[in-house]
Amino acid sequence: METLVQVQHVFKTYQMGEVQVHALRGIDLAVQAGEFLVVVGPSGSGKTTLLNLLGGLDSPTDGSLLIAGEDIADYDERRLTAYRRDKVGFIFQFFNLIPTLTASENVEFALELVESNGHKVRQEAKALLDQVGLGSRYDHFPSQLSGGEQQRVAIARALAKSPRLLLADEPTGNLDFRMGQKVLRVMQDLNQKEGRTVILVTHNTAIGQMADRVVHLHDGLVAHVEVNETPLPAEQIEW
Ligand code: ADP
Ligand code: MG
Repeated sequence: METLVQVQHVFKTYQMGEVQVHALRGIDLAVQAGEFLVVVGPSGSGKTTLLNLLGGLDSPTDGSLLIAGEDIADYDERRLTAYRRDKVGFIFQFFNLIPTLTASENVEFALELVESNGHKVRQEAKALLDQVGLGSRYDHFPSQLSGGEQQRVAIARALAKSPRLLLADEPTGNLDFRMGQKVLRVMQDLNQKEGRTVILVTHNTAIGQMADRVVHLHDGLVAHVEVNETPLPAEQIEW
């Protein structure tokens, strides 16, 4: 087995004027290539902070973050930007699509960072939208799509760079469970059929049932880790 992510003694302290907020207080975590990991914890437990560090959106106060052999903990802004661009697909709670671009154009925008041939970009955008089940929505603007469809466009966009590692922050947080299930199905397929490693953080403990492992975060620390011998199909997750 290959360890794709190794988090070692990671601390993150935010300075708020005079006050220090200890968001992460010594996290140790290893994630195997091909694993579907769900991190659950109540609001404020440090989930987003941890995911942002893994995604190179921020740097830890202390500790190391080895991702696919790179230690990104001490990277400067320029190297973090390259890491974000090349290595990870990020999926957010609020989709973060560009409202003035169509579904296809949102995906093309991301593809243009990695492919210069315009024809290939358009073909590939359609292929990615087909893959997430949005073959009939290429020309819709985000406002013309349901929440679940918007999130699937966001997943297609995250796949543009063909990342081994997908990071998702409350990807169903804004969806009812039927729409959420479809998003989770796409993520489960990306994991099970394509072998992509997924780290999904959520306050919703039900989603842990589809994970290979569930890491419980409390107050900036790993409280305990659960192994699921038989992860559930996305369709059986309800909340
Ligand atoms: P979660 O995603 O589990 O709700 P967060 O990682 O967002 O938790 O936050 C963990 C703690 O860090 C919270 O107490 C939060 O208020 C604090 N925090 C998060 N981001 C910042 C920030 N940019 N500046 C200051 N404090 C922050
Ligand atoms: Mg959060």
